[in-house]
Amino acid sequence: MLYGGIELGGTKMVCGIADEAMNIIDRFVIDTTTPNETLTKLYEYFKDKNVSSLGIASFGPVDLNKNSDTYGYITTTPKPNWNNTNVLKYFESLNVPIGFDTDVNGACLGEVMHGAGKSLSNVIYGTIGTGIGFGVYLNNELIHGLMHPETGHMLINKHELDKDFKGPCPYHENCLETLASGPSIESRYHKKAYDLYDNEDVWKLEAYYLGQAISNCITMYSPERIILGGGVMHTPGLIELVRKETLKNLNNYIKKDEIINKIDEYIVLPKLEDNAGLIGAVELGKKEL
Ligand code: ADP
Ligand code: ZN
Repeated sequence: MLYGGIELGGTKMVCGIADEAMNIIDRFVIDTTTPNETLTKLYEYFKDKNVSSLGIASFGPVDLNKNSDTYGYITTTPKPNWNNTNVLKYFESLNVPIGFDTDVNGACLGEVMHGAGKSLSNVIYGTIGTGIGFGVYLNNELIHGLMHPETGHMLINKHELDKDFKGPCPYHENCLETLASGPSIESRYHKKAYDLYDNEDVWKLEAYYLGQAISNCITMYSPERIILGGGVMHTPGLIELVRKETLKNLNNYIKKDEIINKIDEYIVLPKLEDNAGLIGAVELGKKEL
């Protein structure tokens, strides 16, 4: 059997087909333009591929409640043209079971099943990129709840040297995303993130913010591992700084060997790298079979 997956991103859409052994045997990438143009192209790609299931991991917010009239929609996104988009409608005529979840829940599932979270039951996957989002997998399930976690918008303390900075989130003055996303770093320093590698202060501040979010996640969700991906995490040495800040914030309160002595194995980079989203999307579809 063959299984399809789509990662719906704000800038590009990645889709592909996996075989029984979960090898990606075909891959197709297009730019995200209008909903109708982009989703029609994706449907055209899948229409004669004979997949047995399809999984969609989408940027959000999305409606994940199967009893809701707007299940399968991208709902209140600020992204132009995409507000209130019925994503599932485009794929219904494939007549296969379809799984639908957030992009970060998808990537989280991919890492849990095939990557850095393998064999664990409680894992958090964070992406630090254009936006910040965290997929939360607890007791062997992806968490949805009222909507889905929006961990990237948790409020954190602003650093006193950063108090005049105004970040990109239109809703919050001091959420994680507005202070620590890639665009936020770049607007603070007027340079591309990878042109700032030599500036230690940039990454100390970044770790100051990420370390607060990670210690909050540990105290709230009690994960067995935290995986941090996304473009910003490619910065050499950043993960070490984040581990240090997290330990500083926890201040020895959680006396677990995994944290106190093995933080290098507790806060880690993804194993599937840029394939986590697609592999996770495929798994979302297989779950519906
Ligand atoms: P997206 O979130 O759009 O899917 P990414 O996860 O690659 O894509 O995030 C893009 C952001 O990550 C960019 O705005 C940039 O600030 C940052 N970024 C991308 N590549 C790197 C890199 N090699 N090193 C540091 N930061 C990067
Ligand atoms: Zn926010």
